[in-house]
Amino acid sequence: MIEFHTEAFSLELNYPFSISNFSRSNTPIALVRLQYEGLIGYGEASMPPYLGETQESASHFFSKVSLRNFEPSQYLSIIEYIDNIEPGHHAAKAAIDIALHDLIAKIKGIPCYELLGSDPAKMPFTSFTIGIDHPEIIAIKMKDAAPFHFIKVKLGSAQDQVIINTIRAISDKPIYVDANRGWGSKEHALEMIEWLATQNVQLIEQPLEINQLADMEWLKLKSPLPLFADESCRRLYDIENIANAFHGINIKLMKSTGIAEAQKMIAKARALDLKIMMGCMSETSCGIYAAAALAPQVDYCDLDSPWMVKNNPFEAPLLIDGKIQLSKSAGLGLILK
Ligand code: MG
Repeated sequence: MIEFHTEAFSLELNYPFSISNFSRSNTPIALVRLQYEGLIGYGEASMPPYLGETQESASHFFSKVSLRNFEPSQYLSIIEYIDNIEPGHHAAKAAIDIALHDLIAKIKGIPCYELLGSDPAKMPFTSFTIGIDHPEIIAIKMKDAAPFHFIKVKLGSAQDQVIINTIRAISDKPIYVDANRGWGSKEHALEMIEWLATQNVQLIEQPLEINQLADMEWLKLKSPLPLFADESCRRLYDIENIANAFHGINIKLMKSTGIAEAQKMIAKARALDLKIMMGCMSETSCGIYAAAALAPQVDYCDLDSPWMVKNNPFEAPLLIDGKIQLSKSAGLGLILK
């Protein structure tokens, strides 16, 4: 019998984090534990407010979940059951999916990455994200970015060129840009991308709004840099719709409802010749280790949140030469502080 426990938690950020349309200093989290024969599987839901889930919506969803009649070996049936309880609740569903994968790998006595067929030697570098901020604060954050080989920069405000120039005065590290839908028109987006291509920027995430798909198709034909869908691609069924408008997708477990669907998204994206990034919300090491267990199967990795938060209940992963080191322990490899 699987026992199911949940706990509300507030993850505090080192600095208030701003993107093109939003700012916050903490993120509501639901921590999940699945207990089975003395083993514990950990999961989490990270719920930044703009995605629409809350502590209340998560506890409403969890109150409908009953795992008493399942064995962990039936995990595919459990994931299907969870997904069919109610539409939405992507992060809450991801919390249970992650905990299940941690638990199953512990039962088998193998690391999660092995359960998922990942080769740790193929781990991509992970980027470190700089939010929209004043030049003085960006200079401070660049010090935190020192162990990372790639910088991810949030753009989409009137300060875009100031931000890039500030970073370029400090570092020539390659940059991923995330515009978070902030560039308004396709013409402005192209103008920005053409300039960014001269600044050692390697890819652009979500230049325009979700409903500007025709503009994105235009932009894809003209852009000198690869364009990645984040807000435009949440689950498996989104990929086919956006394949002509982007060169790649950013998979986040909190959007995909967890690891099981993320694996299907990887296969689908590969079949459509799309590049793949594994990304994250503000998450504890739990969500990050879960995404990192899949990351060796993708092209780019943006799993930086353990280095941006104050009260992670788990030890941060080891970072060596800009890459997350996967733990050889059974399960996700989480160590409670
Ligand atoms: Mg993004």
